[in-house]
Amino acid sequence: MNKLLEIKGLHAAYGQTRVLHGLDFEIEPGSVTTLLGANGAGKTTTLRAICGMVKRTGDILLNGQQINRNQTEDIVRLGVAHVPDGRGTFLRQTVEENLQLGAMARRDKAGIASDMELVYSYFPILKKRRTQIAGLLSGGEQQMLAVGRALMLRPKLMLLDEPSFGLAPMITREIFEIFRSLNRNEKVSMLLVEQNASLALELADHAYLLETGRVVFSGRAEAIREDESIRRAYLGY
Ligand code: ATP
Repeated sequence: MNKLLEIKGLHAAYGQTRVLHGLDFEIEPGSVTTLLGANGAGKTTTLRAICGMVKRTGDILLNGQQINRNQTEDIVRLGVAHVPDGRGTFLRQTVEENLQLGAMARRDKAGIASDMELVYSYFPILKKRRTQIAGLLSGGEQQMLAVGRALMLRPKLMLLDEPSFGLAPMITREIFEIFRSLNRNEKVSMLLVEQNASLALELADHAYLLETGRVVFSGRAEAIREDESIRRAYLGY
């Protein structure tokens, strides 16, 4: 079976600063894959490289189709939704307007309306707040909105960058439970970048550990969770 995403020999740089040095990894359809590693390892850059937001070379195959030369808008249209760190919601727009913006690449009005209801069913608080401007939402609600907006694309793959950042543990847990349901029930595949390795490994099927722009270890999340020596060596817990 085709991989949902196959990355081979991915290099990326900001100007003269090379950050990714030949990354290889893949994502099975329907799975949650997590990229772990210390600050500066290149996790955020990997997500940005996949969606064409940073100069990159190497192979990026989405369902077998090469997308390494595609522009960000094309990649979004192909079903890759990026939820950036810092969330990237439009703070002056209402909750509902933010969700509508997430569906900008779509033309199927009925589908958009039913997906809006789907988002509200996963995040009832967003329905309550739908006429409020996003800037007035709490951090957790803004994160939910960012995920909701990504869902409005009906994505094949959601790229999640540090969704727990700045959130209280209880809210983080709630959001991660929703990720689990979205993965199981809506079959959304996810590539998750997360500082909180133990949390990420609970949700993920597969994990890749990055060090200075290279994959240094990969395995089933469950195996890593249960292997104290690997956890100590690579994850510091
Ligand atoms: P963190 O968890 O701290 O976000 P990360 O693994 O996501 O870490 P990246 O954000 O991908 O790491 O950064 C990798 C390297 O690229 C770092 O050394 C960082 O300083 C550098 N870098 C990131 N963004 C830029 C930029 N816009 N211009 C120049 N260098 C950058």
